[in-house]
Amino acid sequence: MNYSQDTQCLVAGYTPGNGEPRQIPIIQSTTFKYDTSEDMGKLFDLEAEGYFYSRLANPTCDHVAAKIAALEGGAAAMLTSSGQAANFFAMFNICEAGDHIVASSSIYGGTFNLIEVTLKKMGIESTFVSPDATEEELAAAFKPNTKLLFGEIIANPALTVLDIEKFAKAAHEHGVPLIVDNTFPTPINCRPIEWGADIVTHSTTKYMDGHGAALGGAIIDSGNFDWMAHKEKFPGLCEPDESYHGIVYAERFGKGAYIYKAVAQLMRDFGSMQSPQSAFLLNLGLESLHVRMPRHAENGLAVAEFLERQPQVKAVNYPGLPSNKYYDLARKYLPNGACGVVSFELEGGRAAAEKFMKALKLINIETHVADARSCCLNPATSTHRQMTDEQLAEAGIPAGLIRVSCGLEGTMDLISDLKQALDAI
Ligand SMILES: *Cc1c(COP(=O)(O)O)cnc(C)c1O
Repeated sequence: MNYSQDTQCLVAGYTPGNGEPRQIPIIQSTTFKYDTSEDMGKLFDLEAEGYFYSRLANPTCDHVAAKIAALEGGAAAMLTSSGQAANFFAMFNICEAGDHIVASSSIYGGTFNLIEVTLKKMGIESTFVSPDATEEELAAAFKPNTKLLFGEIIANPALTVLDIEKFAKAAHEHGVPLIVDNTFPTPINCRPIEWGADIVTHSTTKYMDGHGAALGGAIIDSGNFDWMAHKEKFPGLCEPDESYHGIVYAERFGKGAYIYKAVAQLMRDFGSMQSPQSAFLLNLGLESLHVRMPRHAENGLAVAEFLERQPQVKAVNYPGLPSNKYYDLARKYLPNGACGVVSFELEGGRAAAEKFMKALKLINIETHVADARSCCLNPATSTHRQMTDEQLAEAGIPAGLIRVSCGLEGTMDLISDLKQALDAI
C-alpha cells in the first residue's frame, strides 16, 4: 500500500496478524529458541532470516527500523543505541585504515570529534569543507582513497542548511556515497534520498523520540548506490567476507547489502544495539512525528521572528527567516518548515546572558534539543565555560549566544517567557 507519510507514522513497519497485539510487542529476550542446531546454523551463515541473539537483531527494533525506512523512502534500515553509534557505523561500514573522508565542517560537535579524533586514531584521515563550498572547492577535497562525503541537513548547532543536490553530485562524480545526518528536519520536513543522498542517519534521541525519554540512532540505506560499479573502492561490500564463509554482500543482498553488512559485522563486533524498550518508546514518538514537527517549526519561526524585533537581541539565526543566509536553501529543501531550534546573540555578552538565563521560567536550562518541552542553553556559561570571551569569539560562539529549542507549548507562552527574560537584562 502506498500510504501517505502521516499514515506511515502510525502503521508502517508492523502489521499485526489475526489476534496479535495491536501495539508493537516489546520482545525483551536476549536469545531465541530453535528445534535443531541446523535451523540455527542457517541463521549464523546468513542463509535464513530470523533471530538468534539480540545484539545482532531483535524483532521490536526491526519493526521500528522498518517504519523509519518507510518514512525516509529507503530500502533498508537499522537502529543503533545512539546517534553517535549510527554515525560511527554509517562511516566505518565502508572505511578502514588508510581511507579518507570528506565532511562538512558544520556538523554536530560529537560527530566532528568522531571524525577528527577517533577515526583518525583508527587510521582514517579526513578533510573538512565549508557547507558553502563551491563545486570546485568540493572537488578539490577528494583524494583517490576518499570513501564518502558527509554532512548534516540542518547542522546542530550552527543551523546551516546543506545543499544536498550539490553535495550528492560531488560525491557521485567521485564514485562515493553521500551520507547525511537528518536529525533536525526528520523525514517529515526533508527526505534527503529524494535529493540524491545515499545513506541517511539519525539521532532518534531528538525529534523522533521527541519526549526526552530514550537515547537512540538509526541508519537508512536508499539502496541506490551501486557498490559493484565502484568495486575497487568498497572491497568490504564487493569481495568475499571470510568471517561469513566468503559471502559477497553486494551480490547476495542487493539493495540491503550495506545494512546487512553493518549488522553482520559491526553489530556483531561492536554491539551498540538499541534496547527493545527504547525502540518501543521511539515508536510512540514516531506515531505523532507528523503532528509534532509542524508545531515545532511553527514555534521556532514565531520565536525567531519575535526575537529579531527585540532591541536586546543583536542577531538571530534561523533558516526560516528571510534575512537568513540559508533562507533560499531552506525554501527548497525544507518547504514545510525547518525545526524548532533557534539561536540568537544578546547585546551585552556574558553578563546579559547570565541575567537572561536566570530569569527564564517556562523554558528550562538543559543540554538537550528537540524535546516536546522547550529548553535553552548558553554555551559560554555551560558547555564551553572553560573558554574565555576571546576564545569563544574566535570559535564563532559569542559569549552572549543563546540556543533555544522550541517545544510544543503555546506559542504566546514561549514568547512571553522570552520577553520577560529579555526585560530582566
Ligand atoms: C544529538 C546529535 C547526534 C548524537 O546523537 P546521540 O543520540 O546524542 O548520540 C548526532 N547528530 C546530531 C545532528 C545530533 O543533534
